Amino acid sequence: MKPYGQIAVVANLTPEKPHNNQAFERFTEHGPIALLPLSENRCALVWTHPTEGVDAVMALDDEAFLKTLNEAFGYRLGRFVKTGRRAAFPLSLTAADTVTGHRTVVIGNAAQTLHPVAGQGLNIGLRDISELVEQISITLNAGGALGNPAMLTAYSEARQKDRQSIMTYTDSLVRIFSNDHWLLGHMRAGGLMALDRIKPLQRLVTKQSMGFRHRHTRLSRGLAIK
Ligand SMILES: Cc1cc2nc3c(=O)[nH]c(=O)nc-3n(C[C@H](O)[C@H](O)[C@H](O)COP(=O)(O)OP(=O)(O)OC[C@H]3O[C@@H](n4cnc5c(N)ncnc54)[C@H](O)[C@@H]3O)c2cc1C
Repeated sequence: MKPYGQIAVVANLTPEKPHNNQAFERFTEHGPIALLPLSENRCALVWTHPTEGVDAVMALDDEAFLKTLNEAFGYRLGRFVKTGRRAAFPLSLTAADTVTGHRTVVIGNAAQTLHPVAGQGLNIGLRDISELVEQISITLNAGGALGNPAMLTAYSEARQKDRQSIMTYTDSLVRIFSNDHWLLGHMRAGGLMALDRIKPLQRLVTKQSMGFRHRHTRLSRGLAIK
């Protein structure tokens, strides 16, 4: 377990302007602010703070909270006019040393809980499931017993590269975007501009973020289970 010394403040908000189903992520000196589109023009907010700054944010009344958020996020969506109940979660990278045990497979957040900076937690959990389904199908088709050691080893080996690569990717983003050093600030800005303009780089990051860099299971390719 690696605590990040950061807390995510989450809430559902309503902005003044339509979000048009766009997601936003803004990197501030306190940490990233992510806004994900929801129905009825609401947005899910994930606002990362250093642990020591979070009590002050949670203590604000709704009006002051929305005003502080607007100042930090800017006005691309106009003013934030309404907020639901706020909650705060400490952020850490938590990873199981081994994802299998005697007739047991650990998947999703139980296998790896990631920082939300790159929005990867649910995605990697779905890939755990699709690999597990693949291994169940292979085992049953071969007449094997579910949860036998060979099946568990095959599952764990098939998931290893993807899990490692997403944990390293997410952890690197946290370190790059949580550091106030001026030089790193310029490099970040340059990197984001390059990402905006260089298509092959964009494709590479998209492929990584969508989990298509490693093994593709039948379910992840939209194929029926055999
Ligand atoms: C602020 C935030 C933003 C996020 N944004 C994104 C995103 O944009 N994209 C993305 O892909 N992922 C995102 N994630 C991650 C995503 O939400 C999780 O990875 C996903 O919900 C994990 O699903 P899970 O079923 O594995 O675990 P969980 O959702 O944690 O479900 C586990 C369930 O088990 C229950 N439980 C625990 N212990 C017991 C017990 N002993 N007995 C019975 N029940 C128990 C819990 O109450 C819970 O309901 C975000 C996470 C956070 C915190």
